[in-house]
Amino acid sequence: MNRVYNFSAGPAVLPEEVLKDAAAEMLDYQGTGMSVMEMSHRSKVFEEILNEAEQDLRDLMAIPADYKVLFLQGGAHLQFAMIPMNLMKNRVADYIVTGQWAKKAFNEAGIYGKANKIATSEDKTFSYIPDCSDLPVSPDADYVYICENNTIYGTKFHTLPNTKGKLLVSDVSSCFLSEPVDVTKYGLLYGGVQKNIGPAGMVIAIIREDLITEDTLPGTPTYMKYKIHADANSLYNTPNAYCIYMCGKVFKWLKKMGGLEAMKLRNEEKAAILYDFLDESSLFKGTVRREDRSLMNVPFVTGSAELDAAFVKAAAEVGLVNLKGHRSVGGMRASIYNAMPLEGVKTLVEFMRKFEEEHHV
Ligand SMILES: *Cc1c(COP(=O)(O)O)cnc(C)c1O
Repeated sequence: MNRVYNFSAGPAVLPEEVLKDAAAEMLDYQGTGMSVMEMSHRSKVFEEILNEAEQDLRDLMAIPADYKVLFLQGGAHLQFAMIPMNLMKNRVADYIVTGQWAKKAFNEAGIYGKANKIATSEDKTFSYIPDCSDLPVSPDADYVYICENNTIYGTKFHTLPNTKGKLLVSDVSSCFLSEPVDVTKYGLLYGGVQKNIGPAGMVIAIIREDLITEDTLPGTPTYMKYKIHADANSLYNTPNAYCIYMCGKVFKWLKKMGGLEAMKLRNEEKAAILYDFLDESSLFKGTVRREDRSLMNVPFVTGSAELDAAFVKAAAEVGLVNLKGHRSVGGMRASIYNAMPLEGVKTLVEFMRKFEEEHHV
């Protein structure tokens, strides 16, 4: 067996001990004689897996009792539509567009009502977070939408926008569980789990109870009503049971690591190693405004497309894989999620230093 350091933006690295644990339980989950993949989602054993996963997540994020936790399918993309269908009561919503994912959500919302782009950083290829302290929030907006960590561009809202009393809806896919958050600041926060939590194929939505109503837009499919899933404890239909099981294991791992405060310190330490190097490097440069840098996704360039390609190739040869930047921006991107060990980041920086010595003109 030869594990690599996997810097993929998603699906992404998972904690090795979680994978080993799942492997050990693959054929016989705790004396049931079967894998969790083979189990009825209505069984008592699975019910325990689901309830424990939810409780561990509630503990980690200190989720208040008046918020529901939903395990949903369809990826983050389905939420781009589910959010307006369920929350756009006045058919007006304000979007802050800080990257491709926010843009897609914004465009999708336009199908259902009036989506206003109240701020954007598109003028500088989404390399910063706009000042959101005094935006022209629409008086009749049902919510203000953000993508909190921009996976492709490597920016992060370090301060939440001033929504002037409107509900805040946030896509936290790529910063989920990377640091503590105050759930009460949001009406709804959600994320695809394949970035920082588990295997692909599921979204976790954390939504304030009073927002879960029968009052959805006309024509909303049953399956796309939050209420259907909330009333059924995420078991309206067959859920992504194995994914829930894997996420549950990652929650336990996070608890063991000391919870989200400890993860934040660890993530800051890892990111600092990479950013400090980028700041002093004569070859590599970070592409994001310093104060808006993400702890999770770190894009960088050499300034030469050929050198970028040579770097990505040479890195892969020594087991540092998936460093190619998103196809829309080029360059490199190192995603250093919770499960990326400190050693992985140190090895990457050592390799970058060596590459710089060999290629600097
Ligand atoms: C990856 C990603 C998405 C898209 O997720 P899917 O599960 O593929 O729909 C949306 N938002 C953010 C922030 C992402 O990182």
